[in-house]
Amino acid sequence: MKDDCIFCKIAAGQIPSATLYEDGDFRVILDLGPAARGHALILPKEHFADLSEINDETAEKVLPLAKKMSAAMTKALGCAGMNLVQNNGEAAGQTVRHFHMHIIPRYENGPKMVEWEPGKLEEADKVQIVEAIKAAL
Ligand code: 5GP
Ligand code: ZN
Repeated sequence: MKDDCIFCKIAAGQIPSATLYEDGDFRVILDLGPAARGHALILPKEHFADLSEINDETAEKVLPLAKKMSAAMTKALGCAGMNLVQNNGEAAGQTVRHFHMHIIPRYENGPKMVEWEPGKLEEADKVQIVEAIKAAL
């Protein structure tokens, strides 16, 4: 646990939150500034700043939990779809440096979000990108 981390405190139950689910590894809470009704956050109880720090054991448990929450939320809220969003780093919009996954219910005719203008994958750049990433694995 990191002393100055708000999500560590929420995950540990030291700061109250609207908790939807809790087990030994995670707490799932409602986001205080929801993008849509029922917007939830999966917080690991252990502190990891982001995806680059999370251990494999915790990472392996995140997606099954997202699936479980997503099914319950769909049933309970009647949403028409679901976005999983997970920001890493300030440039990516991460404002709280404690790994978390957003589960955002989507409704018919709801607000637009998580969308971008498609660019074009240029042939020369494609080759360079593929080679660079493969070499870095
Ligand atoms: P990020 O931008 O880091 O991916 O997302 C941080 C999220 O945490 C935001 O959606 C924000 O509304 C939410 N948030 C920030 N502080 C609190 C808090 O104290 N309690 C809850 N429940 N959500 C918070
Ligand atoms: Zn933390």
